[in-house]
Amino acid sequence: MLVTPKLIILLLSVLTALDVHEERPYKLLLDDPPNFIVIFADDMGYGDLGVYGHPTIRTPHLDRMAAEGVRFTQFYTGSSVCTPSRAALLTGRLPVRNGMTHDQYRVLFPPSKGGLPGSEITIPEALKDIGYVTSAIGKWHLGHVPGHYPTDHGFDQFFGIPYSNDMTPSASDWEIVQTYPPLPLVRDTEIIETDPDQRLLTRRYTEESVTFIRDHRDRPFFLYLPHTMPHVPLFASDEFEGTSPRGLYGDVIEEIDWSVGQILDVLREIGLDQKTLVIFTSDNGPWLTEGLEGGTAGLLRDGKGTTWEGGMRVPAIAWWPGTIPAGLTSQSLATTMDLMPTIVQLAGAEIPQDRILDGLDLMPVFLDPAASVREEVYFYRGTNLWAVRKGPWKLHYMTQSAYVGDEPIVHDPPILFHLERDPEERFNVATEEEEVISEIQAVVDQHLANLNRAPSQLDVPEWND
Ligand code: MG
Repeated sequence: MLVTPKLIILLLSVLTALDVHEERPYKLLLDDPPNFIVIFADDMGYGDLGVYGHPTIRTPHLDRMAAEGVRFTQFYTGSSVCTPSRAALLTGRLPVRNGMTHDQYRVLFPPSKGGLPGSEITIPEALKDIGYVTSAIGKWHLGHVPGHYPTDHGFDQFFGIPYSNDMTPSASDWEIVQTYPPLPLVRDTEIIETDPDQRLLTRRYTEESVTFIRDHRDRPFFLYLPHTMPHVPLFASDEFEGTSPRGLYGDVIEEIDWSVGQILDVLREIGLDQKTLVIFTSDNGPWLTEGLEGGTAGLLRDGKGTTWEGGMRVPAIAWWPGTIPAGLTSQSLATTMDLMPTIVQLAGAEIPQDRILDGLDLMPVFLDPAASVREEVYFYRGTNLWAVRKGPWKLHYMTQSAYVGDEPIVHDPPILFHLERDPEERFNVATEEEEVISEIQAVVDQHLANLNRAPSQLDVPEWND
């Protein structure tokens, strides 16, 4: 008997209808499985969108997306830097569990030989098993040697760059960067250009995405679109450069906003808007040391690279007309790691049972902004736990500002903030709240006892010579 994806989906839908998912508060759509699109900006801060309060960056498409869906105000990444953040999103697991974090080399560099371990189960791998077509378009940054390509991790196709856009001799005078190869532009596993015109990357990713959506309108798909921008160095196409009152950074964000508009428009045009869940978010906070070329975390403290709120709390919008009610704002705690189990369950695919997942199913929160599925958020930096959020409280064991020259500070005793009353993390209330600290500590002890750390895959041996 020929086992086709369609047959597998049909069998799964029968099995699922019979048992485990009966109690869910939403209808499973396995007879007509939804599509998924995750749009992931790079280094875009909490305060960089119109709908998150930026006074001069215009984001009409993202503002409309929020008006038609749910906008999160307390949504976190799995890490404050690129590589571990991507690993967290795609696996639903803390980077310390999947090996994609390191205390010294915080991301992958061109000489790096490591990457996301093959034993990890990514969103596209889980979806491919039940017949989804999967595509990654944009910046990968989870390994660029054989065994670690996007096509080794469940993506049928890839178009984009293997790591950050500043890791190329043309981007920097640094001696080490001068030893790197020119930035490759890759299709699947082949380098098709070197040092591509970065002004065109956002536009080219968008055109590739629109083509992918049109080509696969008749079968379920997963599109992962991790933009190269607004990671420094910034580039916008001629149509956007010099148009935003915010300067080049604004041009770049406004072009990403245009890109989101193109994608939502094609979904509406071909009638897939009611059967596609689209998520827009960012991999980490703004790169503050880049001055005017970096974004802003709005009222949140500090930025990229730190475990302060500005490093890991990001904009997040979920859109699925007809399923997610329009115009909601949710204060529920959520993380990028929650997308893996949310998407996999909606598709009717298998949630891995042989490992700890840090993600939780967000569907209840998508449907009801008052719902809550998550109590804790863990803030790792490298392999160490620097802070934890429990409910409204955040306890810091260590902090370090993103600003150059600032050293790590160990807080003994730890410092405590009430993030609902004090989202800017200004007023340490540790001495008044000893009981709260003991409660959080008990949860942390339990978490650390069940951590199952993986060995780091981010060594750069050449640098140690
Ligand atoms: Mg980043």
